[in-house]
Amino acid sequence: MSSISSASPRLPLRRTLAVLLGALVVLAGLAAAPARAGEAGTLATPNFKAPYPCGQKWTYSHHSAEVRRALDFVRADGGTTAGTPVLASAAGTATRHYQAGGAGNYIVIDHGGGWKTYYFHLAAFSVASGSWVAQGQQIGTTGSTGHSSGAHIHYEQLYNGVGQNIRINGSALAYPGSYHQYYLTSDNGCGGGTSFMTWGSGVRVRADAYLSSPVVTSLAGPTRVTVVCQKQGDTVNAEGYTNNWWSKLRDQGGFISNIYIAHPDARLPGVPVC
Ligand SMILES: [Zn+2]
Repeated sequence: MSSISSASPRLPLRRTLAVLLGALVVLAGLAAAPARAGEAGTLATPNFKAPYPCGQKWTYSHHSAEVRRALDFVRADGGTTAGTPVLASAAGTATRHYQAGGAGNYIVIDHGGGWKTYYFHLAAFSVASGSWVAQGQQIGTTGSTGHSSGAHIHYEQLYNGVGQNIRINGSALAYPGSYHQYYLTSDNGCGGGTSFMTWGSGVRVRADAYLSSPVVTSLAGPTRVTVVCQKQGDTVNAEGYTNNWWSKLRDQGGFISNIYIAHPDARLPGVPVC
């Protein structure tokens, strides 16, 4: 039809497209390849979350005598490890087990697709064997049953029976030889929420939607936050705009003015009122 479609100048473009298509075919083949043991792909991998409650900060380590690719977790936020709820890191079918000289009371959750998670040394079980559990549901309490020197959660992720390097929210954890080198704050069981980016620096998170409310923490710079609800409070002025709506942040435990999130003078779309 047009002169563009008839002439030789198309050839380099066509060659480029062919190369690109070839690359896409290779990429598609890689994505479709079954995950290998020890190197599990992300295709059917559940989005595992920390095996303890929302907002809690724990530290973890791996010792040389450890079975498979386990990590041991203890609390590092001032709370007591023993008795803390142990949560399902993803949904699945939970079964109860007991091993006197090793795992003690433990739960195995079968997530399907070859994936299982293990939770050892429980003080008590919270679910019946064979029951389906939701992500974030309590399955037991942290203890020191079996071969254990103190309360902790021994946690594993297995693919086709082989222990994998543990990933939480898609990110691989480190394998330090002792506690208090690495920490993980849980977002398991925090509930829903809508994700937004904030702007500005030093944005204060307050206990309530008022400028007189105590400051809980502040955001260093632009931050991805999860908003669980919003409500009206004090009017905040910034860059010539005003806004009296405030957002409750899931992970920071307080409110920030909506003026730091979206368009000034506006409620956030899709976020319920507190
Ligand atoms: Zn362990």
